[in-house]
Amino acid sequence: MKEVSRKRILVTGGAGFLGSHLCERLVAQGHDVLCVDNFYTGTKDNIAHLFDCANFELMRHDVTFPLYVEVDEIYNLACPASPIHYQHDPVQTTKTSVHGAINMLGLAKRVKAKIFQASTSEVYGDARVHPQTEDYWGHVNPIGPRSCYDEGKRCAETLFMDYRRQHGLDIRIARIFNTYGPRMHPADGRVVSNFVMQALSGEPLTVYGDGSQTRSFCYVDDMIDAFLRLMNLRNDPDGPVNLGNPHEVSMLQIAQQIVEITGSKSPIEFRPLPIDDPWHRQPDITRATQLLAWVPVTSLEAGLAKTVPYFSALSYPVSGAPGTRIGHAEPVLQREHTGG
Ligand code: NAD
Ligand code: UDP
Ligand code: UDP
Repeated sequence: MKEVSRKRILVTGGAGFLGSHLCERLVAQGHDVLCVDNFYTGTKDNIAHLFDCANFELMRHDVTFPLYVEVDEIYNLACPASPIHYQHDPVQTTKTSVHGAINMLGLAKRVKAKIFQASTSEVYGDARVHPQTEDYWGHVNPIGPRSCYDEGKRCAETLFMDYRRQHGLDIRIARIFNTYGPRMHPADGRVVSNFVMQALSGEPLTVYGDGSQTRSFCYVDDMIDAFLRLMNLRNDPDGPVNLGNPHEVSMLQIAQQIVEITGSKSPIEFRPLPIDDPWHRQPDITRATQLLAWVPVTSLEAGLAKTVPYFSALSYPVSGAPGTRIGHAEPVLQREHTGG
């Protein structure tokens, strides 16, 4: 990369799963990367390989507090993403989404930086439109155990759009659908990490409900590709863009696929479904494809084959989360599904 295009880029949540991959790509492109994280769910291990790079800097900071730095671009990823993690301290989750967004937008306004928000498919809630398009307003419970995250992210989108309208900020909002890959937290309770860890240790795979609920899983490299394209788009696209892999599978299907890939003898065990667990989720990525000339290229099979070795190489126990104060826990459960 030529010196002239070298930018100073802030990545909040840079020590997390997606953030660490993003930092790695930006450092490789030659940018000056400032990674800001409070290590709530992320770990230094995720970015330790970047410590020797002269164009990488790490700052321990909580985005709910103001941050004064000089940068050209901001990727705002700070926020716990797995249901178990974001429900661990729900008030802090809302603060991170909302106060964090206000502080990063205030920073972007002061230094005239372009700013990217890691939003989520959760803004659609237990969707009544399938697949989900960006113009669907969603079906979200405002008072349930998932609300701290869903409503926090919805409010952050509102703030981004209002800073755009009111202050003319150049914003990018990515509505990220389920993404998986190396550096996922092994005890985050998400389906891919749970199933792979369970399959590798010979424990039963815990399928919630009857396993017919669906998700669409995107491999991390494809997702980071889309982040960069969206940020580098010449013009502000005026509104959110869905990012994900439209290939939809049921939880029972992915459980069976993981058993097969790992060669595990683990049985499948059915457990109650968590409260407000969305029934179906599949991104309509027409807008992303048109705007970014992007489609995910990694199949679920190929992505899982790259992910399993990461989990099998981990040396710490599942229940002892590395460098964090969050361990494994069961989700909040409901007796019967209200969606569908
Ligand atoms: P993650 O938990 O691995 O990473 C989040 C990072 O943010 C962690 O390093 C954590 O320590 C940090 N963080 C949390 N609160 C903070 C605070 N107050 N101040 C500073 N840092 C803080 O999760 P992830 O999967 O990498 O998700 C990254 C972003 O992408 C999140 O905003 C999440 O909502 C969004 N997202 C992820 C997915 C997915 O499937 N992975 C899907 C939709 C949206
Ligand atoms: N802020 C920040 N870094 C900056 C500029 C602002 O963290 O470089 C924070 C500041 O704490 C403020 C918030 O961003 O509360 C919103 O800033 P803005 O200028 O939009 O609003 P105001 O300061 O007028 O409340
Ligand atoms: N799930 C499951 N077993 C697990 C963990 C999750 O069956 O051990 C289900 C969960 O109920 C949901 C789906 O897998 O229907 C995806 O869950 P995850 O927490 O990964 O993401 P999200 O619900 O946020 O999409």
